[in-house]
Amino acid sequence: NKTIGVLTSGGDSPGMNAAIRAVVRTGIAKGLHVVGIKRGYNGLITGDLLDMDLRSVSDIIHRGGTVLYTARSPEFKTEEGMQKAIKVCKEHNIAGIAVIGGDGSFRGASDLSERGIPCVGIPGTIDNDISSSDYTIGFDTSVNTAMEMVDRLRDTTESHDRCSVVEVMGRRAGWIALDTAIAVGATAVLVPEIAYDVEKELVPRIREIQKTGKKHYIIIVAEGVGHTAEIAKLVEEKTGIETRATVLGHVQRGGSPTVRDRVVASQMGYHAVELLAAGIGNRVVVMKDSKIVDYDIYEALKMVKPFDKNLYDISNTINI
Ligand code: ADP
Repeated sequence: NKTIGVLTSGGDSPGMNAAIRAVVRTGIAKGLHVVGIKRGYNGLITGDLLDMDLRSVSDIIHRGGTVLYTARSPEFKTEEGMQKAIKVCKEHNIAGIAVIGGDGSFRGASDLSERGIPCVGIPGTIDNDISSSDYTIGFDTSVNTAMEMVDRLRDTTESHDRCSVVEVMGRRAGWIALDTAIAVGATAVLVPEIAYDVEKELVPRIREIQKTGKKHYIIIVAEGVGHTAEIAKLVEEKTGIETRATVLGHVQRGGSPTVRDRVVASQMGYHAVELLAAGIGNRVVVMKDSKIVDYDIYEALKMVKPFDKNLYDISNTINI
């Protein structure tokens, strides 16, 4: 039987388990032998593999994290590490690998494909920052967690007539920040994609809104913008409103995946195995206009996903 592998790499995201499950079950349905590779590319270098049967992925669709564990593997980026990985693939007759991760992991997948091991990427990251795909597995769960947390902050912010400056995840992208801001009705949202001056824009905005009788405020800041504590301090100094900073952090990476993440992960895992079963590699499975399709990895890595300026404008218009 032809063998395929599955691994998760880079930062984890809720729904990765659902994707692993889909890869394993689709592979078995197509008569393939499936091995799980532990801790991303590290497991491929050290040969840390396990056979996956139908029951090996039972009771995981609802769990966050990844049962295969994940890691960043600097060694894999070296030719020596790459050659070790190829040797392990040959020893175990691995004829293809489904790589669940972000753009960095896809670069590794493309390097392996080039050297004769067909790999197919599946976008798994909470940040929604994979340029080739409209959607990435984990985003919906993450943004729902952020919304719930901010809802709780809102209660106490309101009781005390305070301002809450909340940092959400997204080092390079403001997607989590923007959706959270819309969902919680935040007075302002600061994202890496759009310059926004706290003193010249945010402070006057709060002052104007104060005149309409509003007494409590929520400001959402993407991790990539940073300086959350300083922003809070400046807002308090300039407006006189008691202001607290909160960094939500990794709670946004965990938890039981939402329906959307479980369904998209299942669709993408299935699609990836259809490609691998046909011996096709160097592809990345993406969502485009609500459909699951695949692109060449090189082409995919060159793509740019424009930020949703329209949604940003909506946020600023109605969150007042
Ligand atoms: P993500 O996949 O979430 O973007 P990283 O950028 O940390 O996360 O990449 C995950 C892993 O993918 C790295 O630790 C490394 O093993 C591999 N990788 C990243 N970039 C490359 C590259 N240019 N060539 C080969 N492998 C890479």
